[in-house]
Amino acid sequence: MMTRHGAALKVENCGKTFADGTCALARATLDIAQSETLVLLGPSGCGKTTLLRIVAGLETPDAGGRVLFDGKDLTRQPIEKRNVGMVFQSYALFPNMSVADNIGYGLKIRSVPRTERAARVAELVALTNLGGLEGRRIDQLSGGQRQRVALARAVAIRPSVLLLDEPLTALDAALRERLRGELNGLLRTLGITAIYVTHDQAEAMELGDRIVVMRKGAIAQVGTPREIYFTPANRFVAEFVGAANIIETAIEGGHLILPGGRQPVAEPGQRTKAVAMVRPETIGIVDASTSTLSGVVDSVRFTGDRQRIIVREAAAVPLAVDAPNTIKVSAGERIGLCIAPDAIRLLPEEG
Ligand code: ATP
Repeated sequence: MMTRHGAALKVENCGKTFADGTCALARATLDIAQSETLVLLGPSGCGKTTLLRIVAGLETPDAGGRVLFDGKDLTRQPIEKRNVGMVFQSYALFPNMSVADNIGYGLKIRSVPRTERAARVAELVALTNLGGLEGRRIDQLSGGQRQRVALARAVAIRPSVLLLDEPLTALDAALRERLRGELNGLLRTLGITAIYVTHDQAEAMELGDRIVVMRKGAIAQVGTPREIYFTPANRFVAEFVGAANIIETAIEGGHLILPGGRQPVAEPGQRTKAVAMVRPETIGIVDASTSTLSGVVDSVRFTGDRQRIIVREAAAVPLAVDAPNTIKVSAGERIGLCIAPDAIRLLPEEG
């Protein structure tokens, strides 16, 4: 079995303004622990790839920025001096070469002896479920198989850090989900330090030890998937990661004051203006006659494993409620709602 490898990484004060004046990345500092998977998550154009390319050595940060691998300043070193493995959305494999030769390519150019090379390729073929396909040419493989080869090739060199830029985006949904699981297993098994770029929040949640949410070239929040989901730092993070009800309201005597009633909240004080975030699955449906908060069912959408119920008149905005698919409610019906006080997150007001 391979030993655990990977460097601890530090991105210090790294920003990037391109020659045409575009500021793709505001100065950012990040510490990535050895064996950690850090996910860069954000909408298109928010600077994820630029940050990844700075770590790879494909882009130089603006003056004053530094990139350190295990404490060693590699800011001025080109990609070939950094020992990074890269996987992209497009596979960038050699189409005429076999699976085994593709996986072993980086080892060959590093002059790893033939027997050791063969052993490592065999190990990676097994780890990435490519058994039986070693002799196939790349152009005889499916998309999922190609991406497995690209992964195996990238980790074969035992990189200090593995950089992945939307590697699963080109695959169909079912395959994407399966490969996500496999990739997760591979990263844990190898104990590799990885940075993973995506705009897909489900991918970010499953793969990231921590997630960096980015917006317009700046870091909006850094945290574990649970922290990002349950305690988003602001409205952008709340709405970008998962579904969120954003309720503008007031707080009086430990309650949110809503059109449909009062809802206890963990914060005791008084506020004439507050912005509360509530996840749809944290809202329960109860008997309207006994609840302090009620509303009217606007629509019910069955989604298989549950149902999304839109409730009006409870808050100033329609509330999305995700309920078990066994509860029977219909449009026009008045229902009671209950929300655990600690499921309500008060967000800072945006300036
Ligand atoms: P996507 O998810 O679409 O790949 P991203 O978050 O990875 O987006 P980047 O590729 O880092 O975003 O780009 C950030 C911004 O910098 C964008 O506005 C982009 O147009 C701009 N940009 C990227 N490369 C250059 C360049 N070489 N010159 C000028 N502007 C650039």
